[in-house]
Amino acid sequence: MDLHPVVPGIYALPGMKTGRSYLIEDARGLALVDTSTQGCAARILEAIDALRRPARELHTIVATHYHLDHTGNVAALRERTGARLYVHAADAPYVDGRTPWMAMRGPLGGLAARFGPRPYSISVDGELHDGDVVPIAGGLTVVHLPGHTPGNIGLYSRERGLVFTGDALMNVFGLRTPLDMSTHDPAQARDSVRKLATLDFEIALPGHGAPIIGRASEKIRGWTERW
Ligand SMILES: [Zn+2]
Ligand SMILES: [Zn+2]
Repeated sequence: MDLHPVVPGIYALPGMKTGRSYLIEDARGLALVDTSTQGCAARILEAIDALRRPARELHTIVATHYHLDHTGNVAALRERTGARLYVHAADAPYVDGRTPWMAMRGPLGGLAARFGPRPYSISVDGELHDGDVVPIAGGLTVVHLPGHTPGNIGLYSRERGLVFTGDALMNVFGLRTPLDMSTHDPAQARDSVRKLATLDFEIALPGHGAPIIGRASEKIRGWTERW
């Protein structure tokens, strides 16, 4: 597997299913932001192998929110690596099964419930809050961006000029917010994008679609101003 970093030490893993997975390599070892949909654990381990790192160096997985296209491979990876899972406190109950997942709205939601992947629950090792600093990639600050889910987060480094957005926004055929049918509170989700756009960053790494490289916060701000 040929891996090319988006910025030094951060890789957008190729060959994932729905939902991105970003691999981070730093002096402390390896970490993941999101893990895509179930069935990609082997691909992720292959990527770690391509960096010539042992899998046990994966110490941290941050899921930007509970959805199965972000937490899908946590269980399989934790078994192989001993990594610890961190999610925002407001999404932890959906991850560990205390609160049932939101049913998708509309006719497609009914189909997804009947034929889509089954909900699962996995234990959470640590809960995150707005302003916490996760000690990966030189230190990433948790930015609470609720709406898509109650505990959707971004991970921000002002110093490095980058942010992981989770599903606050997507970059699939242009910038967009996630579908209302899978979003807990669409109005709050739009407010969170406006909040994200007040930060200052060159690079945005979305939960879906291509990284936004160069003047990313300006591009997002311009987009929200056209709403
Ligand atoms: Zn997603
Ligand atoms: Zn989502």
